[in-house]
Amino acid sequence: MKVFINPGHMPGVDSGAVNPNSGLKECDVALAVGKLVEYYLKNAGCEVMRLQSDNLNGETPVYPNVCKTANDWGADIFVSLHCNAFDGYARGVETLVFKFGSEAERLAACVHKQLVDTEQSVDPYILDRGLKERPNLSVLRNTDMPAILIEMGFIDNDHDVVLLEDKQDTLAKAIARGVTDYANS
Ligand SMILES: [Zn+2]
Repeated sequence: MKVFINPGHMPGVDSGAVNPNSGLKECDVALAVGKLVEYYLKNAGCEVMRLQSDNLNGETPVYPNVCKTANDWGADIFVSLHCNAFDGYARGVETLVFKFGSEAERLAACVHKQLVDTEQSVDPYILDRGLKERPNLSVLRNTDMPAILIEMGFIDNDHDVVLLEDKQDTLAKAIARGVTDYANS
């Protein structure tokens, strides 16, 4: 199975969301977890390509095009990694797909279950926000293969940020397990 990993945003160009107290940046969390997911999936026998770029589908040609790279490579599945942010109180994990009833939803269900179970085993307060349909997100709409976008937690929430900062390896293992659950199902 060929797995394309897209850590969201781009260090030095677009930090994504930032924790107002610690300065922890979404782009750095996504990259760190993405590298670890790559490591675990390669260990499990997957082919992995990882790309973090400000150019999602041609809008910033100076950087590599994420969707085109995944499509040209012939990825079997596409996983984008992000952190949410809202008002400091909103919290939890959600996984986004282009359309319900799709293969992407099946992939999302496998990964989301592993990630939620794992996060809740570390901190029972972590909220399961479920799967959501997001037809307008470029990386979900412009990719040819089943694609999911994981919001691993709210980087501006005091509970979620602990996992995002200190449990990156645990999160990555869970995501990789979810991918292999899907591959084996
Ligand atoms: Zn993001």
